[in-house]
Amino acid sequence: MKTIGLIGGMSWESSLEYYRIINETVKTKLGGFHSAKCLMYSVDFSEIELLQHQNKWNELTEIMVNVADALKRGGADFIVICTNTMHKMAYDIQNRVGIKVLHIAEVTGEKIACKGLKKVALLGTKFTMEQDFYKKVLEDKFNIEVLIPDEDERKIIHDIIYNELCKGIINKVSKKEYLRIINNLIQKDAKGIVLGCTEIPLLIKQEDVSIPVFDTTTIHAISAVEYALQ
Ligand code: GLU
Repeated sequence: MKTIGLIGGMSWESSLEYYRIINETVKTKLGGFHSAKCLMYSVDFSEIELLQHQNKWNELTEIMVNVADALKRGGADFIVICTNTMHKMAYDIQNRVGIKVLHIAEVTGEKIACKGLKKVALLGTKFTMEQDFYKKVLEDKFNIEVLIPDEDERKIIHDIIYNELCKGIINKVSKKEYLRIINNLIQKDAKGIVLGCTEIPLLIKQEDVSIPVFDTTTIHAISAVEYALQ
């Protein structure tokens, strides 16, 4: 079994989910007392979130490279970044640290392609929805068309992530808002919904939505175990 190097704390609400799903998956696959070999470097999200909103992505890249390097030196065989947004620098980390980064958009793209879907909607932070780094993986590697919500809807999605979900607040009114936006995207012909923020699955479940939902936290965590056991 390979040792998984998890970069967590962004936010720790979803890092908990990673730790749980990874260990449950190892238990299901191997049985007995088996559990995952892993290290987690959990950052202080207050520092990260501030730099994100100041658009200081170069500084964030330096932090992420240092964290991944610490995990490598600690014995990690590969890296799992427990957030979609911070995949903005995933390929930089992989190249500079010289360690495989199991990319969340790549493993999600594989799942979408397996279902034969060609057009999905992406929900996530503004950074994930509006910048290229995430959509490009789905578009270029998997030939999947990616829709995003309108500007005012993107603001609602983003604000709920940072003001509620990353603080562990699960609000019924916010869930309704998310479902309203998801239904608008279905009207625009989305055939699947990518929950492209690792906290969104705390609010939205498959049973809430009439078309396939891609829970990136679960997909990424299970893929990490599959890779560790290869
Ligand atoms: N966990 C979130 C994500 O998957 C947002 C927090 C962050 O900015 O890292 O994008």
